[in-house]
Amino acid sequence: MASETTSPLGPDVYDAEPIPESARAEIEALLSSGDLFRYKAASDSPVALLEREFAQFMGVPFALAVSSCSSALFLAMKALGLAPGDRVLLPAFTFAAVPSSVVHAGCQPVLVEVGANYRLDMADFEAKLQQGADAAIISHMRGHTSDMDAIMALCEAAGVPVIEDAAHSLGTLWSGRKIGTLGRIGCFSFQSFKLMNAGEGGMLITQDPDLIARAIIMSGAYEHNWKKHPVVQDRFAAWQNKLPLYNMRMNNLSATVLRPQLLEVPRRVRDGRANHDYVAERLNASPWLSVPPPLAQESRAPDSIQFNLVGFQSDQEAEAFRKAAGDKGVAVQVFGLSKDNARAFWNWQFIGPQSPLEKTRAMLMRACDVRLPARLKQPELDFIADALVAAAEAVKDQGVRHGQAVA
Ligand SMILES: *Cc1c(COP(=O)(O)O)cnc(C)c1O
Repeated sequence: MASETTSPLGPDVYDAEPIPESARAEIEALLSSGDLFRYKAASDSPVALLEREFAQFMGVPFALAVSSCSSALFLAMKALGLAPGDRVLLPAFTFAAVPSSVVHAGCQPVLVEVGANYRLDMADFEAKLQQGADAAIISHMRGHTSDMDAIMALCEAAGVPVIEDAAHSLGTLWSGRKIGTLGRIGCFSFQSFKLMNAGEGGMLITQDPDLIARAIIMSGAYEHNWKKHPVVQDRFAAWQNKLPLYNMRMNNLSATVLRPQLLEVPRRVRDGRANHDYVAERLNASPWLSVPPPLAQESRAPDSIQFNLVGFQSDQEAEAFRKAAGDKGVAVQVFGLSKDNARAFWNWQFIGPQSPLEKTRAMLMRACDVRLPARLKQPELDFIADALVAAAEAVKDQGVRHGQAVA
């Protein structure tokens, strides 16, 4: 997250939930045995069990647990066989780790405009697809789903594989289908600010037997360790000794911390959405704040809220809002205003020249971000909504009075 610290005045929005009590006995057993390596056991290691349970939860045949979502994205590009210099489309509004994974895979990131609703600008996506693309990473940034019907139709017609960056979309549905299962490969994060928390961790899912076989080997299933993955045993011989081993495995302790949290996901999704929608309605009642609605096909799983400042003409005004909210106890990040923000594309100076991206820039200069974890209760939600509405009013009222005084 950003460097903003929580004011003692307001609710704590940064702490995660405790690791479920039910994990404790298993953690103790692991500490006693020291069996932290996933390939120590012949079968049914905690990592293997997590993979099976996650695949079942998502309704897909294959899941591979890895060290982070960034690792999953990197392995996805490698599994697809992307070559050095291949062009990978991705939204200009995402986290710096995503273009970084493209660079890590030796490919060229091509940023696509994102509109004021935080979703891919489909006209720009189509134009850049036509200019030539070898893959598309669809980052559902902050859990906002871009138009997957249009994206899949365009990419299928162009023969371009889609990787879903569902790091922040566990539990999100698109026309009833689980986000992460629509593209060729879906990638998830278990970093602490995501719905399931292992400190670090990730998951790659797919329905394609060759992609999973390649990803398993490259994740570090050296020699015959692929035998400990109870899937696609007929596919591994073809890839034996032919692929690099990037060693991006998950360890058993992380898996043990995660397994009971999978059972919590439906509750976290339900409460997170209810919290978000409650605060969204309160913010939308202010003339100065606007929460873009979900797309019609989308059922969201938010753990934070994003809103745009309306009628804030200058960056100074937007900054005054951020400061006023902070003074009232609610930490706000305006993505484009904080120095060196990892979600502002102009700070990704390692990716090479890009198109001007004026739309995305304009959005980032007025788009605000507030954490809203599922565990918050109504008084805390009211505190946050009250503070944000009052901060906007304070700034705009001052502006109006100042304007009148001058006139
Ligand atoms: C958190 C996040 C990532 C990075 O996940 P890691 O597990 O930290 O590598 C990538 N994309 C999005 C949209 C994220 O929110």
